[in-house]
Amino acid sequence: MSATQSKVLRGRQFFANPGPTNIPDSVLRAIDRPTIDFHDPDFMEVYDATFAGLKRILGTQHHLFMYTGSGHAAWEATLTNLLSPGDTILLAESGYFSEEWGKMAAAHGVEVRTVAADWRHGVDVSAVKAALAEDSKHVIRAVCIVHNETATGMYIPLAEVRAAIDATGHPALFLVDTISSLASLDFRMDDWKIDGVVGGSQKGLMCPTGVSFTGVSEKAMAAHKTAKLARFYFDWTMMLGRQQKSFIGTVPVNSFYGLREAVRLLEEEGMENVVARHHYLAEGVRRCVNVWAGNNGPQLFCTNPARYSDSVTAVLMPEGHNAEAIRRTARGRYNVSLGGGLGKLNGRVFRIGHLGDLNEAMVLGALTAVEMSLRLNGVPHGKGGVEAAMEWFAA
Ligand code: PLP
Repeated sequence: MSATQSKVLRGRQFFANPGPTNIPDSVLRAIDRPTIDFHDPDFMEVYDATFAGLKRILGTQHHLFMYTGSGHAAWEATLTNLLSPGDTILLAESGYFSEEWGKMAAAHGVEVRTVAADWRHGVDVSAVKAALAEDSKHVIRAVCIVHNETATGMYIPLAEVRAAIDATGHPALFLVDTISSLASLDFRMDDWKIDGVVGGSQKGLMCPTGVSFTGVSEKAMAAHKTAKLARFYFDWTMMLGRQQKSFIGTVPVNSFYGLREAVRLLEEEGMENVVARHHYLAEGVRRCVNVWAGNNGPQLFCTNPARYSDSVTAVLMPEGHNAEAIRRTARGRYNVSLGGGLGKLNGRVFRIGHLGDLNEAMVLGALTAVEMSLRLNGVPHGKGGVEAAMEWFAA
C-alpha cells in the first residue's frame, strides 16, 4: 500500500484549505434555487439585504461595490478606481499575496514602494511610519496592507498602521486586503478609518468563489473622481449609474442568496463570537504543530506569536523533506485537503486552513491525517501533537 493510496473509499473529504473553504449546508440550500431576473423586485430585496449585511460585516456606513470575480477582481477594481498612471503606493511586504498585489499595481503603471519584511517575522509598523514620514512631498497616494497573509499565516495589526499613518499626518489612502481575514479576524473599516477594503466570498464568508467587493470611504470616493487608470467593467461611477448601484454586467443572482444566508449565520453567532471561534480553533492547531516541532520536526512558519493568524497556519517542513509529499499523502490516503506553499514557499510549507465552517472534530481529523502522513513519509517530529490539540479542545 503506497503512502498516497486510500484504503477507504467512503466518507467526505475533510477540507482544511485556507480558501475556498467549507460551505455550510444552509448556504448550499440557499443557492440551490431557480434562477431569477436580477431586476425582479423579489431579487432586489435579497440584493439590498445582502448589501446591507455585508456593510455591517465590514463595519462601514459608507460605500460598497461588488464584482463577479474572485479576489483579484477586487484588487484590480480598487487600484484602478483610486489611482492614476505614475502614482506611487506604499506596500507592506507580507508574503506571496502582497507581492502579487504589488505586481498588479506595477502592471497598471503604478510605482510600488515596498516596505521590506522578513516573511517569518512580519513587517515592522515603525518602518511603514518612517517611509511615510520621509515622504514630505506626499507623493505616496495609498498605503496598501494585506491584513492576513494567507501564504505565511501571519496578520498585520491594522489599528497600529492607522495610528502610524495618523502620527505622520500623511494624507495617503489606507487600502486593506481582507480576503482571508474578513469574518475570521477582528476587522472594523470605519473605526480604523480604512479607505478601501478588498474582500471575497470564499473564505470567512463561507460561500462559493466568484463574488468580491470593495468597501469605500468618502475620502476614497473623492479620490476616485480624479483617478485616471483605465477601467470599464470595474468603474464605480458607471456602477452608480446602474439600477443596482454596483455591477456592470449580469448580477450573479444565486450567489446573493448564499451570501445573504452566510451573513445571517454570522450575525446569529455574533461577530465577536466568530472572531473568538477562529482564535480557539487556531490555537488548537498551533499547540499541535508546536509539539511536532520537537525532534527537529515541522514548525510554525510564523515566528512572531504576536502576529499568529487565526485563519490559517503555515507549517515549515524540516530541511530535506518536501511539504508536497505530506499534502499528497493527506489527500490520497486520508482524503484531507491541505493548502500548499505559494511562490518561493512551494514545497517548503503546507498550510492548514482553519477558517469558516468547521469545528474541533474537523480540525482534529485534519491534524490526525497530517500526523499520520508525517509518519508514513518518515518525517521526524515530536510525538503527541494531536494529543496537545485534544487537551486544548477538552479544557
Ligand atoms: N489576497 C489574499 C490575502 C488571498 O488569500 C487571496 C487568495 O487566496 C487573494 C488575495 C487572491 O484572491 P483570489 O484567489 O480570490 O483571486
